[in-house]
Amino acid sequence: MISLIQIDRQFQSMKSEILSAVGDVLDRGQFILGEEVRRFEEEAAAYLQVPYAVSVGNGTDALVMALTALNIGEGDEVITTPFTFFATAEAISRVGATPVFADIDPETYNLDPASVEARITPQTKAILPVHIFGQSCGMQAFSVLAEQYGLELIEDACQAFGAEDNGVKLGTIGRIGCYSFFPTKNLSTIGDGGMLVTRDGELAGRLRKLRHHGSVKKYYHEEIGFNSRLDEIHAAVLRRGLKHIDGWNGVRRALAQVYDSLNGKSGLSTPVNRYQGNSHVYHLYCVEHEQRDDFMAYLQANNIASGSYYPLPLHLQQVYRQLGYKPGDLPVAESKSERLFALPLHPFLSAVEQQEVLEVALNYSGKE
Ligand SMILES: *Cc1c(COP(=O)(O)O)cnc(C)c1O
Repeated sequence: MISLIQIDRQFQSMKSEILSAVGDVLDRGQFILGEEVRRFEEEAAAYLQVPYAVSVGNGTDALVMALTALNIGEGDEVITTPFTFFATAEAISRVGATPVFADIDPETYNLDPASVEARITPQTKAILPVHIFGQSCGMQAFSVLAEQYGLELIEDACQAFGAEDNGVKLGTIGRIGCYSFFPTKNLSTIGDGGMLVTRDGELAGRLRKLRHHGSVKKYYHEEIGFNSRLDEIHAAVLRRGLKHIDGWNGVRRALAQVYDSLNGKSGLSTPVNRYQGNSHVYHLYCVEHEQRDDFMAYLQANNIASGSYYPLPLHLQQVYRQLGYKPGDLPVAESKSERLFALPLHPFLSAVEQQEVLEVALNYSGKE
């Protein structure tokens, strides 16, 4: 079986580095907010070229804390995409605000700025675009909207660590950027992890306080916060991963370029890299097919895994039925959710395995 993602290979490839890093943490005996976290935040901020990085327990908490730090809550609306992992909208609901879903661009699957603008109301407080599958959502248009309407701009860069928009790292362009280090993400750890970045020192201070029970001085609490810190062992693992991330993302891009030869063959459409000057990091390599489920079953029968991203857009999820969306409200997101699926792609996919996927895909002869 050729897997969609194979994180075991990634961590096996750096097992001795990880074991020695974890050994150092054990020897030091400090497990929360110590040396590894301090150095990881410094190194990540330097890599991303942003002044402040605040690590937290996971990517979902990063989103919740971004909204909290910007005082977004009850009665506020946040415009986001229905074509993302659930956590993006969940974070908005978690702070008591209402997610407002706009439609997506048919080529990049990212939030469509025109659809966003049409949904701005006096209650709108923020726009929360996602750099879906690792491609920039085209930040310029959202920066203009945020400026024009006086809105906060929060980037969900959970799938896009290391990707760029005109030479600037994704996550560092809006007011706050959020990352996840969940094991399958491009930069990942052996458990949960997350991070926020900002160029605003005051906001960074508030985030540091929030992640640690609203406290700066031990046992003195200034606000209701969270218990959401990156553990020292995860910071230690992530510091090792940071050294490899450009190489890993480079392999993803090279593999993507090979898969691009499938475009127009066997009824497949391959991803459009809209912004040629920007770096797409192919967190997922998703293709479109009219008979998606049939194609996926065919791959499965040939021992090739694939995954449907995302099978049900968020505006039609059962948990959001009280928001009142109906099928047909966001037609692009709905049609893509029936057509898109990911092919195996990760930095440890071998050329032989990829050739096997290509060969099988090219031999698809359609529904009987
Ligand atoms: C993974 C992911 C998250 C959530 O991150 P966790 O670390 O799993 O909490 C949020 N948004 C997007 C787009 C993601 O892909």
